[in-house]
Amino acid sequence: MHAADLIERKRNGEELSAAEVREFVAGYVRGDVPDYQAAALLMAVWFRGLTPEETFALTDAMVASGETVDLAGRLGRRVVDKHSTGGVGDKITIAVGPVVAACRVPFGKMSGRGLGHTGGTLDKLESIPGFRVELTTDELVEQVREIGVAVSGQSADLVPADKKLYALRDVTATIDQVSLIAASIMSKKIAAGASAVVLDVKVGEGAFMRTVDDARELAREMRALGDQAGMDVVCVLTDMDQPLGRAVGNALEVREAWETVSGGGPADFHELVVDAAAQLLALSDLGVDEAEGRLRAETALADGSALAAYDRWIRAQGGDPDPARLPSAPVVRQVPAPATGYIRKLGAREVAVAAMELGAGREVAGEPIDHAVGVVCLRKRGEEVTAGEPLAEIHARDDAGAEAAEAALLAAYEIGDEPEPQPLVLDVIR
Ligand code: URA
Repeated sequence: MHAADLIERKRNGEELSAAEVREFVAGYVRGDVPDYQAAALLMAVWFRGLTPEETFALTDAMVASGETVDLAGRLGRRVVDKHSTGGVGDKITIAVGPVVAACRVPFGKMSGRGLGHTGGTLDKLESIPGFRVELTTDELVEQVREIGVAVSGQSADLVPADKKLYALRDVTATIDQVSLIAASIMSKKIAAGASAVVLDVKVGEGAFMRTVDDARELAREMRALGDQAGMDVVCVLTDMDQPLGRAVGNALEVREAWETVSGGGPADFHELVVDAAAQLLALSDLGVDEAEGRLRAETALADGSALAAYDRWIRAQGGDPDPARLPSAPVVRQVPAPATGYIRKLGAREVAVAAMELGAGREVAGEPIDHAVGVVCLRKRGEEVTAGEPLAEIHARDDAGAEAAEAALLAAYEIGDEPEPQPLVLDVIR
């Protein structure tokens, strides 16, 4: 294989064979293909796209680059998984895992760290004192068997091609390409061995997919890859124009997830947790439909069984589930509304950048993060506010950080005379 020939042919819009895609990926993982050639191919793909056959070959080659886990086989049950394409304030896994486990369906998941402006579940979980995110595959399986729920970092041996390619895409402006995202997500789901997966495809200015049409295309490609791998896939397209829930920032989001599994929490977050849990239960071996799944999820949230599952889960991974033990920031400042009216816009990306600049996220991979800082959006789209009332609350390390975040948050909010309702779930693709 001559990597330069493949790059040239893709650049010219030609289709690569499955064998060529496989060789390129294997060569890149071995270190025979250098970063600069992989980056050039990624950019050619960004402009020219991939055919369904190429996308399948890429996914297959990525799965084949590392070990695979037969989670369902080892547990002797159907195992359900969920994955989000990346959003702001998205702490669904932390709440949905215990809900599903409380409904007696095994939930074992490998999660990632924050990417770009979006937060990562592992970073959020690490704000819990003592919580251990690195589980071996055997520990993950055993914990799911005993406790019903486990979330760990992705094992280094699982889809190493995605680890390398993702890091390269992150710094070469090639993240937001539908086929590359589909292959990246589905290779991890296939390698991790779930029987069925619910994919939360985020749409809007805070997401990688900006339009519903692009999100539908991504959903279709992921479903097609699932079909070929014998995995049931349901894609739920959800709004990411504004942050999900109110909290953005690691410990703040864990606290909000805890409030939600305790039966409270913000309405939009509660709705998506119940939605995802209902889909997961309907895909499980319980033999229930989505309506029954919804009922059971609501019951688990109301009767304390989801909270009990959360406590068991966090303790099993060495953490202290008491929310009072989460780290808190020394400076807490409220941002007053500059006018009276309805919130017409709350820019997810601006809020994410404000939280990142407070220290809640990374600008460069591997950087340490401050788990205590972040933003709580006290008012969200459609809600009424009177001038001078608090719009948001900033949790900062110092006054200078709080001041910069205040300016950024004021720019993220738009207040008008009329509310502009927008649905939370935009489409479901089965
Ligand atoms: N999440 C992933 O795992 N991969 C992508 O490419 C984008 C979001």
